[in-house]
Amino acid sequence: MSRPARAVIHLDALKHNYRLAKSLAGEGNALAVVKADAYGHGAISCAQSLSDEADGFAVACIEEALELRAAGIRNRMLILEGFFDPSELTEIASENLDIVVHNPEQIRILEQTPLDKPVRVWLKMDSGMHRVGILPDQYRDAWIRLEQLPWINEILLMTHLACADEPDNGYTLQQLETFERHTLGLPGERSIANSAGLIHCASARADWSRPGLMLYGASPFDRSHEIESTLKPVMELQSAIISIKEIPAGSPVGYAGTAVTQKTTRLGVIAIGYADGYPLAPNGTPVVVNGQSVPLIGRVSMDMLTIDLSEVEGVNVGDPALLWGKDLPVTEIARHAGTIPYQLLCNLNRVPVSYTQQVKHKETA
Ligand SMILES: *Cc1c(COP(=O)(O)O)cnc(C)c1O
Repeated sequence: MSRPARAVIHLDALKHNYRLAKSLAGEGNALAVVKADAYGHGAISCAQSLSDEADGFAVACIEEALELRAAGIRNRMLILEGFFDPSELTEIASENLDIVVHNPEQIRILEQTPLDKPVRVWLKMDSGMHRVGILPDQYRDAWIRLEQLPWINEILLMTHLACADEPDNGYTLQQLETFERHTLGLPGERSIANSAGLIHCASARADWSRPGLMLYGASPFDRSHEIESTLKPVMELQSAIISIKEIPAGSPVGYAGTAVTQKTTRLGVIAIGYADGYPLAPNGTPVVVNGQSVPLIGRVSMDMLTIDLSEVEGVNVGDPALLWGKDLPVTEIARHAGTIPYQLLCNLNRVPVSYTQQVKHKETA
């Protein structure tokens, strides 16, 4: 027997969620965001399973794009941080990659680097997130400079929302208004929405949405939202109980004794810890054992965590435990742990990953 901690990736759920994103996008296209190894789900497997139907993929950097190209993914592909160095441009063009251009330095480099094969640019405006992007009052000039370059064959207009995960936050409409005003009259397709914008903000959907988190079946919202009932979790983080024992009232549990039992307690130990990507979640965070929810107790350690089994019957060493997945949304675990589902999924580590649907290898025609 090997250590029972593992992640199971349900590719049929990924397809379901992509189709849901597409249906929300209406007439628009949806770029499946598979950066950071598809949020910890395995970029190649995820991209292969969506390659027949995805309008395109988005990754963070050229390294991630080339990994997918090398695996045979020919779909349109956008590099969300664009390029860092002029040396990347030749390969970007030859591999037919789209790039985000978000700062004046990149524009200067593009002006000074004639390319044999033209590239497509997504010109990003900082409409209020204040991370990357061309400031609104410099956007039109940036567009004009790119428009003059013969090696740029298309310019799309793009921005990114800072607060779309809070549906009531008026800042989103302010950003949309800024983007609208400063792109008025400019030709080109528009791209605005991440998952949260796509789900709740019809006016952000535009020509190209960029769903990421929702494809993996997790809700991007800080509070509970009806979309949770239609998303299917793609990742299941599983392990098993490796020890059970009864300890008396007044016993400290785990490192630093951060929890002390109030009564006689049946304590279970699960073989999973923060080295696997499980967060330092507090007492009371739910874990599902044999289909029953039980609370975490004590501090999560590197390879193990402890749960209170006092309230459930019939649990034995070797029984399966679910840390997140179907019926235990990763977003809920994130809320308990004071973090975001993105971080939990991306932090997956050490555990073997398996796929429930055979990854199809595309035949070359
Ligand atoms: C990561 C990213 C997305 C996807 O965001 P989700 O919240 O995961 O849907 C979209 N656009 C940009 C620019 C991104 O960096």
